[in-house]
Amino acid sequence: MNNIRYNIKNENEKVKLNGWVSKKRNLGGLLFIDLRDRSGIIQLVVRPDNKNYELASTLKNESTIGVTGTIVKRESINKNLKTGEIEVIVDELKLYSMSKDIPFEISNDTTALEDTRLKYRYLDLRRENLKNNMITRAKTLKSIREYLDSLDFLEMETPVLCKSTPEGARDFLVPSRVQKGSFYALPQSPQLFKQLLMVSGFERYYQIAKCFRDEDLRADRQPEFTQLDMEMSFVNEEDVMNMTEGLFKKVFKDIINYDIKLPLLRMTYDEAMEKYGSDKPDMRFEMLINDITDIFKDTEIPFLKSSLDNGNIINCLVCKNAADKYSRKEIDKLTDFVKKYKASGLAFLKVVENELNGSIKGLTEKEIKALKEKLKLENNDLVLIVTSNYKITKDSLGALRCKLGRDLGLIDPDDYKFLWVTDFPTFEWSEEENRFVATHHPFTMTKESDVDKLLTDKKHCYSKAYDIVCNGYEAGGGSIRIHDEKVQEKMFEALELTQEQIENKFGWFVEALKYGCPPHGGLAVGLERLIMLLCKTTNIRDVMAFPKTASASDLMSEAPNIVDESQLKELGIKLDI
Ligand code: ASP
Repeated sequence: MNNIRYNIKNENEKVKLNGWVSKKRNLGGLLFIDLRDRSGIIQLVVRPDNKNYELASTLKNESTIGVTGTIVKRESINKNLKTGEIEVIVDELKLYSMSKDIPFEISNDTTALEDTRLKYRYLDLRRENLKNNMITRAKTLKSIREYLDSLDFLEMETPVLCKSTPEGARDFLVPSRVQKGSFYALPQSPQLFKQLLMVSGFERYYQIAKCFRDEDLRADRQPEFTQLDMEMSFVNEEDVMNMTEGLFKKVFKDIINYDIKLPLLRMTYDEAMEKYGSDKPDMRFEMLINDITDIFKDTEIPFLKSSLDNGNIINCLVCKNAADKYSRKEIDKLTDFVKKYKASGLAFLKVVENELNGSIKGLTEKEIKALKEKLKLENNDLVLIVTSNYKITKDSLGALRCKLGRDLGLIDPDDYKFLWVTDFPTFEWSEEENRFVATHHPFTMTKESDVDKLLTDKKHCYSKAYDIVCNGYEAGGGSIRIHDEKVQEKMFEALELTQEQIENKFGWFVEALKYGCPPHGGLAVGLERLIMLLCKTTNIRDVMAFPKTASASDLMSEAPNIVDESQLKELGIKLDI
């Protein structure tokens, strides 16, 4: 692990090195071997008169070897290598293990398919960029532990075999052999246990916790992932947010020497949705969503009039100086894009020599003037307009905004823009379940001023919840919890859980609130998301040593897989598939 420790200052030193044969070439009888270890590459030279010359000639790439030799100055310097000024003249060579022919080239710009790389993940992890990501991950954990330890947080573990508490994502279930017909669930997060640790009096807890969610996977999701989970007693939102800001500041400084300016910007959920169409706004570029409903309140343009008559709103984005970049065909593509977010269409206007042209015909002089003024339109601006209900309008323009930001090159990839999104609605309407469900989880404290509305005006209840957002991603989220059993019961009632359901699902937890529960709150940071930001990758598999595919398979060990009939029998399980 110390290849790259050596440089020209070590000239003439005798060294002992171990590693992998990364590359081998024969130049005029001299054998050159790039020896790779975790730290990097150093060049070995085996002369024809060396007793191991023949062995060295037969070495295949990726074999493991050990050598002793002498450091000398190179004739031609390789500026791309840290050890590029030196090489090692080999005296002794030992072959530890000859490699088979490798299924793909171990290089950063490999063209091997990801499936092949996942099948041979142990080889994939030899590639420098993946290896560096894993090192970044380990260093990040170290930095986190240092920070939390300095603030008297205790690292504590919570069980992995738990009781299923539906609400949230689907659980992974584990059948019990001892109690046939009963199941454990793998934890979606240590939420209830960390709250119980507060009831127990530990005051400050953290855990690098594995979480499991049986969801349909999107590009940036995995069935098992890691959270940095934290909880504190006798705190309010400010305390948790300040602690978290300090954590991010230290980690970004330690790992990539980036200075985060504190305090972070704060924005309410309502404002984020209104202006950015997202509860995780990407603040690296402007382009806000504009509400132009008022401008059209007396409109005679049929599709806008009928939309407003249906109680809809009209919103738009303005792409500065970009009208000439979007042909009709390009705008059709953007229209297809917003349709994925349920918008019925995308109208557009272009500013061409002070005139407004586009798909909206029959604008009055008053409307044109109002649009120009409100949107501060200039020549060659492009206005993209959606009219629908609030949710569809904001969702579709929010997604379009991010796409345009990328397409128009408005995003500086080296920039990090953090903010807190606060004051989330306590409830959200679930079309599927036809009822209000908890936006975060049922243990999130509603703002004191809204507690009385929990049963009467769910739409207007806001909670003491906060998400830390970076570059359009939720990096972490948490809340102040309910510590009063009466409020907790009211919350369950608001979620339309019967006394029996409460007893069955959370009885054990609610009981604990009766024995002196401190006011408490916390937050969980998605560790993979954090490492992705630090490593500047959008692929979650790049920051996990052994990830699964989009269909939740491990291509290397071939999990999940069938099990023996006898194993099923022991569990009392009969398959019906
Ligand atoms: N347990 C929550 C989650 O997994 C985080 C928290 O509220 O602390 O999102």
